[in-house]
Amino acid sequence: MVRKVVILGGGESGTGAAILAKKLGYDVFLSDKGRLGDAYRDVLEREGICWEEGGHTEKKILAADLVVKSPGIPDSLPLVAILRRQGIEVISEIEWAGRHSDARMICITGSNGKTTTTLLLWHLLNRAGKDAGLAGNVGNSLAAQVATGSHKMYVVELSSFQLDGIYHFKADIAILTNITPDHLDRYGYCFENYVDSKFRILNNMDPQGLFIFGSDSGCVQEKVQHLAVVPETAAFTYTGKPKSENGAWMEGAELVARLDCREFRIHRDRISLRGRHNLYNAMAAVLAAMRIGLNDEEIADGLESFPQVEHRLETVAVKKGVTYINDSKATNVDSAWYALDSMTGPVVWIAGGTDKGNDYLTLEALVKQKVKVLVAMGTDNQKLLQAFSGICPVEDTHSLAAAMEQVQRYAVEGDTVLLSPCCASFDLFRNYEDRGRQFKEQVNKL
Ligand code: ADP
Repeated sequence: MVRKVVILGGGESGTGAAILAKKLGYDVFLSDKGRLGDAYRDVLEREGICWEEGGHTEKKILAADLVVKSPGIPDSLPLVAILRRQGIEVISEIEWAGRHSDARMICITGSNGKTTTTLLLWHLLNRAGKDAGLAGNVGNSLAAQVATGSHKMYVVELSSFQLDGIYHFKADIAILTNITPDHLDRYGYCFENYVDSKFRILNNMDPQGLFIFGSDSGCVQEKVQHLAVVPETAAFTYTGKPKSENGAWMEGAELVARLDCREFRIHRDRISLRGRHNLYNAMAAVLAAMRIGLNDEEIADGLESFPQVEHRLETVAVKKGVTYINDSKATNVDSAWYALDSMTGPVVWIAGGTDKGNDYLTLEALVKQKVKVLVAMGTDNQKLLQAFSGICPVEDTHSLAAAMEQVQRYAVEGDTVLLSPCCASFDLFRNYEDRGRQFKEQVNKL
């Protein structure tokens, strides 16, 4: 019987998991290797939850009956291995929350487009007056929301790390946007392991559940064909029509979605989000909204009124005829591809940072066609310099200030300055949000 619950990691998900455990009457202890944020420390104090920071006291942790581990902590951590060896169950916050909720779960995963699709679907539901919570990677902790029992359904963004820690959790609607190589360092540099992790979203789904997936993503389509048991499916594609009865696709300038013997159509110009990738995200959100029962007017209204998402192809300002776009969240090659694809004029492209094993070959044609100069920005730009020298002019810079100086040298009226880095931000910034905000500050000072 579970009596003692230990939470590893005291961020949004860990603190939420602790709140739920306390609410359920367990003996709770939270341990964080780093420093807790002030807001989280205050919550723990207020709730009377025991905690430690700056290290893990092994004895206290090994006394647990159940451990809820933050998705940021890798399975390779020796402490996690010891817990498993001792037969102590280690799960994620999502699994923990799912065990104590019977709300409808609409879950979104994929390499790219998770946050946008999640926020868009949540926006559609809210505008239509549905009682839906926003949880997972974006929004507040699912466990904390379950603790207050506040919603009938949740729109949950799930990373592969969160999916790794689920065992009995059941999605009612699952969306898989696409899969491209990412985070391979956490998966033994094996793409298959990463793909398997994403498909865990289907674990435990009922046959009457709905699996919405991007069939233009080759490995997703391939894997779906070989799945032993699948719930009902709806594929979405930009390049043709899905083979399945249900799904979404582009017909000229119109987005078409078919589900439950019903067809929805909207002209792409009525959708507030821009870029081909966002049409994919819209298709996924529309299919889920149709299944939930939104009518055509409600769906169209939500697609038209959805606001920009910070750090995702976010137009910051137009200065002296130059448009500045913050796409700091583009931390892998595929996302930068879609950003460049959506550009209509000459591009001054700022890219670089911590390389995650990138292969830049797929970007060559677009760069040749659209980029007037690449401003490489990172502590070590060697890989970018090698990949693009000879394809477009390249400037080597090692700070945002230096990058902005180069931008000023090149950008003229009609150009777009695009920060779409292809890389993680940790060499020069705290995180991608910090990178995006600093960029916006610099732009606003111009
Ligand atoms: P995630 O949450 O999966 O990281 P986001 O919605 O935050 O995805 O978008 C991150 C970046 O990925 C965006 O800046 C955009 O450049 C790119 N992107 C968004 N949606 C897609 C998509 N469906 N396919 C490919 N790239 C996308």
